Amino acid sequence: MQQAFTDAVHIHLDMAYALLKPSVSSLHAACYHHARQRFALPASTIQQARDKALAIYRSIRTRQRQGKKTSRPRLQRPLPLRLAAENFRMFPDKGIVRVTTSEGFVWLPVLIPPAWRTLCALPHAVSEIVQRGRDWYLMLAVKSEDVPTSDGPHFGLDLGVANVAVLSGPRVVQFWDGKPLRYQRGRFFRARQGLQQKRKLGMVKRSKGKESRWVRQMNHQVSREIIDIVAAHGGVLHVEKLLGIRDRTKLTKKVNRMVHSWPFAQLLDFLRYKAALAGVQVMEEDPRHTSQQCSRCGHTDRKNRTGQAAFQCQVCGYELHADLNAARNLAAKGACSSGVGSVTEP
Ligand SMILES: [Zn+2]
Repeated sequence: MQQAFTDAVHIHLDMAYALLKPSVSSLHAACYHHARQRFALPASTIQQARDKALAIYRSIRTRQRQGKKTSRPRLQRPLPLRLAAENFRMFPDKGIVRVTTSEGFVWLPVLIPPAWRTLCALPHAVSEIVQRGRDWYLMLAVKSEDVPTSDGPHFGLDLGVANVAVLSGPRVVQFWDGKPLRYQRGRFFRARQGLQQKRKLGMVKRSKGKESRWVRQMNHQVSREIIDIVAAHGGVLHVEKLLGIRDRTKLTKKVNRMVHSWPFAQLLDFLRYKAALAGVQVMEEDPRHTSQQCSRCGHTDRKNRTGQAAFQCQVCGYELHADLNAARNLAAKGACSSGVGSVTEP
């Protein structure tokens, strides 16, 4: 069904390019009957494919108008399957989600973290089903008048190389040292260089596997510890937004480096799903200036960063570890956007 959906998006996208000014109605008129015949998908799923294609088309056009380099997505991998609200129903008590297919209902067992059970009973919006590894996830969107506000204590998490992670919250400061990670990665790297010279390529591959298992294990452990601390305080976790920022040129060097470094992406991934299971809200904050701004007085200056690990404010003289300062800024950014005042105290 996911593949059929992706193919349906494809033909709508082709048509969007063929039409002079594609709109919902012109795209519908041009594709609907053909798509209904060709794909075993419910009518509303075809409509979702049309809307998805139009959204892709429009975002490409917008970027082209802004003079940015863009190419048409080839959709080589299946897209997340979009489900219209009327096409699925949750039964939170029974742990079942009912999905409408062209051949009728399919009843799928679903694991719902206890913290999300009440939210599942809210009216649904367009949601998505995605596959991650061997598991399938339902990205459930719900309609709610009052968005659950994050009124718990705010925690900021700074990720980096010197320290894998620094967590800051009310009366909580914790560092996860990056030394073991740097050491192991260096060790694996040198070992592979030696093997490469001896042309032992099978062993090079095995070494890569070993390294990624080591990092994976570390990311599991670090993310577990972080989420346990935040969950114990009933807090909200604020992290740097790394993905979904299209305009990379405006970002800091650090963030750019991190986006392309898989250990960080994996750590964030683990944090997100462990947080979801624990009912901890994770919010992504704008990462700009977090390392240059003073977390006490707000003064922003590159000179505030006096060393790799040292931060000293040029205005108020406040001194602390640079990564901790960044973590506090993330927590403060989060608190501001949730409409809560000051949050960080040592
Ligand atoms: Zn200051």
